[in-house]
Amino acid sequence: MAERAHIGVTGLAVMGRNLARNFARHGHTVAVHNRTSAKTRALVDEFGHEGSFLPADTAEEFVALLEPPRRLVIMVKAGAPTDAVIDEFAALLDPGDMIVDGGNAHFADTRRREAALRERGIHFVGTGISGGEEGALLGPSIMPGGSPESYAALGPILEDIAAKVDGVPCCAHIGPDGAGHFVKMVHNGIEYADMQLIAEAYDLLGRAAGLRPAEIAEVFQGWNSGRLESYLIEITADVLAHTDADTGRPFVDVVQDRAEQKGTGRWTVQTALDLGVPVSGIAEAVFARSLSGHTDIRAAGRGLPGPAPTTLDGEAAARFADDVEQALYASKIVAYAQGIHQIEAGSTEYDWAIDAGRVAEIWRGGCIIRARFLNRIREAYDSPQRPESLLSADYFRDALAGAQDAWRRVVATSAELGIPAPGFAAALAYYDGLRSPRLPAALIQAQRDFFGAHTYRRVDRDGTFHTEWSGDR
Ligand code: NAP
Repeated sequence: MAERAHIGVTGLAVMGRNLARNFARHGHTVAVHNRTSAKTRALVDEFGHEGSFLPADTAEEFVALLEPPRRLVIMVKAGAPTDAVIDEFAALLDPGDMIVDGGNAHFADTRRREAALRERGIHFVGTGISGGEEGALLGPSIMPGGSPESYAALGPILEDIAAKVDGVPCCAHIGPDGAGHFVKMVHNGIEYADMQLIAEAYDLLGRAAGLRPAEIAEVFQGWNSGRLESYLIEITADVLAHTDADTGRPFVDVVQDRAEQKGTGRWTVQTALDLGVPVSGIAEAVFARSLSGHTDIRAAGRGLPGPAPTTLDGEAAARFADDVEQALYASKIVAYAQGIHQIEAGSTEYDWAIDAGRVAEIWRGGCIIRARFLNRIREAYDSPQRPESLLSADYFRDALAGAQDAWRRVVATSAELGIPAPGFAAALAYYDGLRSPRLPAALIQAQRDFFGAHTYRRVDRDGTFHTEWSGDR
């Protein structure tokens, strides 16, 4: 009998091609297919020596190459192309087969697709994959959703190709139907927040402390050997140290200040609004990117008055850099706390039973937000006293207590000097909101009762009340 493949990958652009190579490098026979078959042949010609690839020109040939139960990974453009490819292959599959969507699908689409395929006995496994093209090749962080049965058949192969940290694969069954893509979405939202906070730190070190990009790169390198150690801090130091070959200027200075977005940050915020979860750090990061792209209103706003530009001198600048490190760490903790709150709220809403500690564990390697402090998050959620919020876990409460004075100085300095730091400020406001024994929400609810008879609850007795306000005006 002809050789069959353990797994197949269709969609051989950067991600699919590198995932297929990763499977092959781990000893799996991989069937490969792409709508445009030139890409299939190019993969085998270029990388055939890395392992066992079985190329297919047509969907029928591809399906016939897979050993049952078939494991078929789709890595095509998200949205309508994914639906088209699912329809094409589902018609050729048998009950018990598995379709893995490794693209960046919206979790609601994954829920819809999973329900439709379940009716036909096919397992649909919406899978978040983080790490970009390099991660796909060398070991990504993998977040599969879907049925436990599908994970039993797929998990070992996915765990083989995932990144490993302390010998633990960065891959775990997240939960049913859309759970994997939901967690990947929030991962990307946290990534937006993390990048925004790093960008604010760079901006403050440049504009308030007067450091040049190469000097800021050194500061980031220093931070990367401490508690902020992470992929994003590491690459930030590399970017800031880079010189533009054409002009000899710092590379970052020749890049236009407009940050684009593909949409997963926006999805995170939209979903958080639906769930009623305050992810202000992620929202500020998405809005900051939006603001950067509005060149028209930015041009109109350039003449608005602000404080006279001043730069801190010598020792004050060095102290300020230490403060920024603390503000960055504290704000980052808040961003993760908000993201994890969203994961827990989604898990409750959709009955996914997601283990937040396990999620933190599989984010420790392979993915863009990999960072040393994820160990601390895992520990917090593994402890017998599971925290209601990450911020109330001992380690994080102590870290924030130690950082808060510096954090407040950084936010105050940014306001005084007129340097926008929406991520730092929103994180601090969230922290203070959680700390406050009493919020001004009392007044808002009273206003609502005044104009809309929306009722209120009292601090001194149970029940719902309405006041006849007409006599008060
Ligand atoms: P992509 O540019 O998103 O998609 C290109 C692939 O989709 C090609 O193989 C293309 O085939 C195929 N395709 C497009 N429309 C199709 C259709 N109607 N029918 C069949 N095939 C179709 O590729 P990518 O950057 O490798 O990403 C793949 C998926 O992974 C996406 O969902 C993306 O969001 C997700 N993702 C990407 C990254 C990343 O860093 N790039 C990271 C994580 C996740 P042809 O060659 O025939 O055009």
